[in-house]
Amino acid sequence: MTTTHNLGYPRIGPRRELKRALEAYWSGRIDREALLAEARAVRDARWRDQADAGIDLIPVGDFSLYDHVLDTSALLGCVPPRFSEAGERVDLDTYFRMARGRAPSGDPADACEMTKWFDTNYHYIVPEFAPDQTFRIASETLFDEVVEAQTQGYRVKPVILGPISYLWLGKMKGGADDRLALLDNLLPVYGEILYRLAGLGVDWVQIDEPALVLDLPPAWRAAYEPAYNRLQGRGPKRLLATYFGSLEENLGLACGLPVDGLHLDGVRASELAQAADRLPGYKVLSAGVIDGRNVWRTDLTAQRVRLATLAERIGRERLWLAPSCSLLHVPVDLSQETTLDPELTAWMAFARQKLDEVVVLGRSLREEGGVEALTAATAALTARRESTRVHRADVAARLAALPPDAARRDSPYEMRERVQQEKLHLPPLPTTTIGSFPQTEAIRAARRDWRAGRLDEAGYEDFLRREIERVVRAQEDYGLDVLVHGEPERTDMVEYFGERLDGFAVTAHGWVQSYGSRCVKPPVIWGDVARPRPMTVDWSVYAQSLTERPVKGMLTGPVTILQWSFVRDDLPRADVCRQIALALRDEVGDLERAGIGVIQVDEPAFREGLPLRRAQWGAYLDWAVESFRLATSGVADATQIHTHMCYSEFNDIIEAIAALDADVITIETARSDMELLDAFADFAYPNEIGPGVYDIHSPNVPAPARMEELLRAAARRLGWSRLWVNPDCGLKTRGWPEVEAALRAMVDSARALRAEV
Ligand code: GLN
Ligand code: ZN
Repeated sequence: MTTTHNLGYPRIGPRRELKRALEAYWSGRIDREALLAEARAVRDARWRDQADAGIDLIPVGDFSLYDHVLDTSALLGCVPPRFSEAGERVDLDTYFRMARGRAPSGDPADACEMTKWFDTNYHYIVPEFAPDQTFRIASETLFDEVVEAQTQGYRVKPVILGPISYLWLGKMKGGADDRLALLDNLLPVYGEILYRLAGLGVDWVQIDEPALVLDLPPAWRAAYEPAYNRLQGRGPKRLLATYFGSLEENLGLACGLPVDGLHLDGVRASELAQAADRLPGYKVLSAGVIDGRNVWRTDLTAQRVRLATLAERIGRERLWLAPSCSLLHVPVDLSQETTLDPELTAWMAFARQKLDEVVVLGRSLREEGGVEALTAATAALTARRESTRVHRADVAARLAALPPDAARRDSPYEMRERVQQEKLHLPPLPTTTIGSFPQTEAIRAARRDWRAGRLDEAGYEDFLRREIERVVRAQEDYGLDVLVHGEPERTDMVEYFGERLDGFAVTAHGWVQSYGSRCVKPPVIWGDVARPRPMTVDWSVYAQSLTERPVKGMLTGPVTILQWSFVRDDLPRADVCRQIALALRDEVGDLERAGIGVIQVDEPAFREGLPLRRAQWGAYLDWAVESFRLATSGVADATQIHTHMCYSEFNDIIEAIAALDADVITIETARSDMELLDAFADFAYPNEIGPGVYDIHSPNVPAPARMEELLRAAARRLGWSRLWVNPDCGLKTRGWPEVEAALRAMVDSARALRAEV
């Protein structure tokens, strides 16, 4: 009989219950017991949801109080020495100190690094290894949760991150980077974990090895077979899970490993049939055919056909069904979206609905009915395909009619630079900020009042104008050269545009975990994108009316809007991105016509959009660069285009960064001692650069001497003439006193150095 299972489920709770409990605990408003009780309630509800949906094997160990990679480090006793702890076990506050640097008890220490989980917008805590790293079981959480779920009668399948992916995702601190050498120390602990799970009566364990979808160096590929050979033995059966892409050259390797089953992502890859041919008869094949990365309903009839062929080939009992990956990356429950357009709602499925899809497919393969559900899914998809709202002739016509030079500025940078200087008269080392100013409690309260109808439209706009005036006056007072309006009207740099563009929908509860207690609510792009009216012009024009100095218009770029939204799956991403670019091009043009001479188009997600496999980088970079240029090339030479990117590795994409041809790029560099600029220097990057001179993630006020030192380091690499002076990123998470002190010091540093230039 076909088995249904799930790889992982959202942890945060349908109403972000876990977020609130965590933040209350960190701030001392509730104690440990209260936090753990709330966490348990969330965990129980998740299991119940999955069991109620009819899923056969329910994951355990995918829940987390912060991050599952951090949980793995705790389980394996991999705790950097600065979080010194006395006990045998990693206690709760040590765990939180690793994640965030501080916790209600224990000494603060530098938090562990955090980075993106593959190509998702979820961030994991990077494991930190010492060259002589040892491992031991140092957390009972996994085993406790298994017992907890079993006690409630669930048939559980514990989930653990596999040893090779775990090492791959970590970082060696001090000493040569030979993480793979740690495998010898690590495997016995994995053996012990499996042994203990067997002792709990578990029959299946899911071992995640997503590293198998990457371009792995030969030594890493070669490590798989001996490692999994060493993990053989009695104990639970093992399902090796891969997701987010195709295995390609690793497919044979994965099929041959001594495990009892293999899970493949059947949405982003199409290797199920190949795997069916290569898997030995004693192994199960888990087909991940429900998209765990997007919010669209699945064409169940089409999938049923595909699965029936597979089932015929390998036998129904060897075919398992699941979502393509953990459902962590989609919102919890669509039934909460009571205010969303019903036509759109009918096209979507969130985590809870995706479980229903898995179960329906399973039933139909077992021929236990469910035909109505298949028909309903197909009908919904037909309705979506045939909806007259999705495709717009005007959008298509405009894209088709774009002149060949639409993505090119009129003149090369050297000429633009001269005209811009004549117009803007900026001093050497011009100072600016990245856009946002503190989102104070007063701003949030006004927004809440306005949404609740306690403050009318006019009252809210008045409030925002006063906020903008305050930000403009403050910047003049600090002596900044290029000002911003401060973005008080935006909750989020993508949602703001999602609310204003045609073809986008925003949800009320569609939260997805980004890291720890932080969640984002990505807009949904469901149809052709167009801009019905200007989105930001009034605010920028108002800010400009208050000052003689140039005010920088502030937009989010097409790649970042795409990257941080759920994107329609009936059109290539490249095409959706071009549509967004054209909408932004109109906004850029309107800003210019309204007298805004400097316009910033933020692209913090430019690098994270890179495909997992290098072979696909070129195609991505081509359309990503083209989209940015489409958005920004419609202006006169005298209009200065800025872009901004947060902390990124630029080395391997510097050519594409240069091809954006922004007049000025600001980047996050303070924490890297300007080393990130090497890529720009080596490439002889031609345009202007504002390397961030202080870290905005910390409340500390930067010392002027430190900023001057960083600017000298930047000038050694790039010369003085093309440098700008700015913070690393926007200031929205900071308080006014820090912002004032930091920006005054920053302006002083720039002024002091101007004498040298
Ligand atoms: N303009 C945005 C801000 O200042 C940029 C944010 C970002 O780069 N993530 O907040
Ligand atoms: Zn940034």
